[in-house]
Amino acid sequence: MPVAGLGPYDAHNVFARILRGEIPCRKVYEDEHALAFHDINPQAPIHVLVIPKTPYVSLADFAASAPPPAIAGFFQAVAKVAKQLELEDPGYRILANMGADAHQEVPHFHVHIFGGRPLGPMLQQF
Ligand code: 5GP
Repeated sequence: MPVAGLGPYDAHNVFARILRGEIPCRKVYEDEHALAFHDINPQAPIHVLVIPKTPYVSLADFAASAPPPAIAGFFQAVAKVAKQLELEDPGYRILANMGADAHQEVPHFHVHIFGGRPLGPMLQQF
């Protein structure tokens, strides 16, 4: 079910539970700002999610409320993860769904990293 990208933050969402270690994930990277792990339902040969360690519902919430060093650290982590996955040479796509029209499903801000094959046009035709 899509969620609104605006608060309040639900501390029981699945990514909050992953951050607390209550449910497992296939971790690929972690630093002080971010945790990255494989998506449970991959849409490409490589499909990794990068999440901030702090509780923000969406990009809108993160950009409005996170301290600038946390925002910088998070996006540096996204690029580091893609590099670690050896996606820089072939290329990759990042995506963040915000709110209902984008079909955001998990109300904890996250960036998807897709790669491992040519990804085609940016959006499905509508
Ligand atoms: P959204 O639509 O919110 O941008 O994407 C949420 C993503 O989280 C989906 O791609 C979905 O497959 C993934 N996801 C949902 N629950 C879990 C989970 O428990 N573990 C992992 N690793 N990914 C999940």
